[in-house]
Amino acid sequence: MWTRDITQNAHQFILSHISNCEENSLNVLDATMGNGNDTLFLASLAQAREVWAFDVQRLAIKNTKENLENKLNILSDSSNKYHNTNIENINEVSIKTSNNTKINLICQSHLAFTDFITDKLDIIMFNLGYLPTSDKKISTEAEITVKTIEKCLKQLNSMGIMTIITYIGHDNGMEYSIIKQYLGNIAYKDYKVLRITIDNASENCPQLFVVIKE
Ligand code: SAM
Repeated sequence: MWTRDITQNAHQFILSHISNCEENSLNVLDATMGNGNDTLFLASLAQAREVWAFDVQRLAIKNTKENLENKLNILSDSSNKYHNTNIENINEVSIKTSNNTKINLICQSHLAFTDFITDKLDIIMFNLGYLPTSDKKISTEAEITVKTIEKCLKQLNSMGIMTIITYIGHDNGMEYSIIKQYLGNIAYKDYKVLRITIDNASENCPQLFVVIKE
């Protein structure tokens, strides 16, 4: 079901793609944690076994941790051992939920995700650009994003899904164009790439890529 909210559309694609997967069986990457709305969605999936979320801003860990604490049943949180340390000085937090899902919040560029994850990934989400509520200068960068996508394609499991939400406004569409060009040239026999857009909306409306690995 199509909605006006591009993020919800990405969530719907993921939900329908994994509907037949077993509980606690999937490895999940949120490449752009931000305020943790996507991390929350991914961590709430019954099928999620372990979730890794990355952001270059420490504030993202704080905001995402609060978001998860408010909406999930948390069993343990590794940051509790740092009693006197401000959360904004902690680079990595591991959280366990009552559904037995492990969530790792990591302050690092997504480009470094292979330093933390050796398993194959079943679901990957990118929500590019900047955090509307934060410093707009801290934004995803086309070159780093494409290098990370390239690594993600290799680490994606067979029948895995990757969604990439791109915004045109923050760099006049440069990141979007580079990603479109890159994904348009990956092997058709190995990956299927969808691009979802609204044809009769403004040229600047966000664009969603959905990549499925064969
Ligand atoms: N998914 C988020 C949510 O649900 O709130 C929104 C993400 S926001 C549009 C984009 C985020 O990407 C920002 O928080 C920004 O700091 C982060 N970012 C920028 N460059 C990054 C990089 N190289 N690695 C990881 N995150 C990055």
